[in-house]
Amino acid sequence: MRIVIASPEAVPFSKTGGLADVAGTLFREYRKAGLDAFLMVPLYKSTREAVGDRLRDTGVTLDIPAGPVTRRCGVYTLRTEKYGSGPSVEGNIGGGRVFFVENEDLFGREELYGTALGDYPDNAERFIVFSRGVLEICRTLRLSPHIIHCNDWQTGLIPYYLKTAYHGDGAFRKAKTVMTIHNLGYQGLFPPSVMDVAGLGRDHFHPGAVEFYGNVNFLKAGIIAADAVTTVSPTYAREILTPEFGFGLDGVLRKRSGDLTGILNGIDDSEWNPLTDAHLPASFSSRDLSGREACRQELRASTGLGDSEGPLLCFIGRLSSQKGIELLIDVMPALMRAGAQFVVLGKGEDIYQRRLADLSGKFPGAMHMSLGFNEPLAHLCYAGSDIFLMPSRYEPCGLGQLIAMRYGSIPVATMTGGLSDTISDVSGQAEILFCDELLEDVKGTGFLVREYAPEALLGTVKKAICVFRKARPSWRKIVLNAMDQDFSWSRSARLYGDLYQRLAGA
Ligand code: ADP
Repeated sequence: MRIVIASPEAVPFSKTGGLADVAGTLFREYRKAGLDAFLMVPLYKSTREAVGDRLRDTGVTLDIPAGPVTRRCGVYTLRTEKYGSGPSVEGNIGGGRVFFVENEDLFGREELYGTALGDYPDNAERFIVFSRGVLEICRTLRLSPHIIHCNDWQTGLIPYYLKTAYHGDGAFRKAKTVMTIHNLGYQGLFPPSVMDVAGLGRDHFHPGAVEFYGNVNFLKAGIIAADAVTTVSPTYAREILTPEFGFGLDGVLRKRSGDLTGILNGIDDSEWNPLTDAHLPASFSSRDLSGREACRQELRASTGLGDSEGPLLCFIGRLSSQKGIELLIDVMPALMRAGAQFVVLGKGEDIYQRRLADLSGKFPGAMHMSLGFNEPLAHLCYAGSDIFLMPSRYEPCGLGQLIAMRYGSIPVATMTGGLSDTISDVSGQAEILFCDELLEDVKGTGFLVREYAPEALLGTVKKAICVFRKARPSWRKIVLNAMDQDFSWSRSARLYGDLYQRLAGA
């Protein structure tokens, strides 16, 4: 079975969020298992920097129509592949497994999708070209895929093209598509004029096709046309069928509910392992936690936080309303006055960047704000903080809480989506937590906030802090419980594999 993963980002080549981890790691897991898998991503400026002189031009060029213009794209691959052995691919260039769609005008920019001021205005064209590029690579290199696994709105047109413009094309005779929704909040909405750029006639512009309240919706195209639809946790798969979480697509999704499943993401054990993590000043594991204290001190020192017995709380993530930044900003002053310290690492909307920077100015020594995407600091934060905050408004799966648990930072998170599926709540165990004789009975890996409201967040964080300060043995037990969870990718990869088998056999 030949699998093509099409994704707008994938580690280690490009990343703005969890999707990159999912696509890149899934591909690597497939290769480790000897599966016949390919990965296709755009060639961004940051990808060039990440790949360096390993980048190789295959010499293949694709002329992709985009409305009035034709975009000439190069196809690049890697000079050396580190993705395990497997069946060699006839007709494929030099055994390449990762293909980059290259067009300097469209992808050679500072950012992947836009800046703090907003999305790039030509995102529709950029991802129309990428989506067609993926199909054209399959055709040109005669890959004949059995599965094309598409990720998020940027690739939503791929299943749609296969059912329309590419229908009956022998190159895709066997191809079945999977559309994975990593976040329904991002759908790729564009004005009707984009239909021409996409090469789709006006007869596709109606509510039963790609039209969505007067706009074109790329994700909707993928949802209606894919052979299977998945999202990244079982709870989120149920939530998106409701108007509250469906972002207007709940009706469309309900029609596909028989083909919709939730498969939890995992984390990459080779990148996220406190025993081998090169970013840390000391290693540790659930068997020997002593190195954790050195990480805590290093985090304090490198962020200019003062000495304190109190807990060190941390937030890492996109600064967007989805991540509950408003709630966080509301509760931080009270917690800092009570002795808590914060490290906030994030990048995103200007308004939140400013409000957080203001706050850190008001609480020097108690709060450190780091603006930007900083991988080494993220590692140190997970390893050195006591509590990891994830007060998301909604959360399809979430990787932050998984990494935090692996590193012994206890999540305090909203009871929604993947957070509910991965964090086992200790809140109900008050009488056990404060009784040393019952230590072995302390179950659970974090604290769930039952309502999206500042009072609820504040109350739950206080509860966690109280256990941290007053019931240290129980806290330690929760840390060990969290660190011993298995969130490895092999399980998720197996579930995707089962789905592919079902589709390919159908
Ligand atoms: P998202 O909704 O952004 O995909 P996830 O929790 O699923 O959220 O994944 C976020 C991933 O990106 C995690 O691996 C997290 O550590 C990382 N991350 C987010 N923001 C930053 C940042 N500013 N610096 C470093 N890493 C970050």
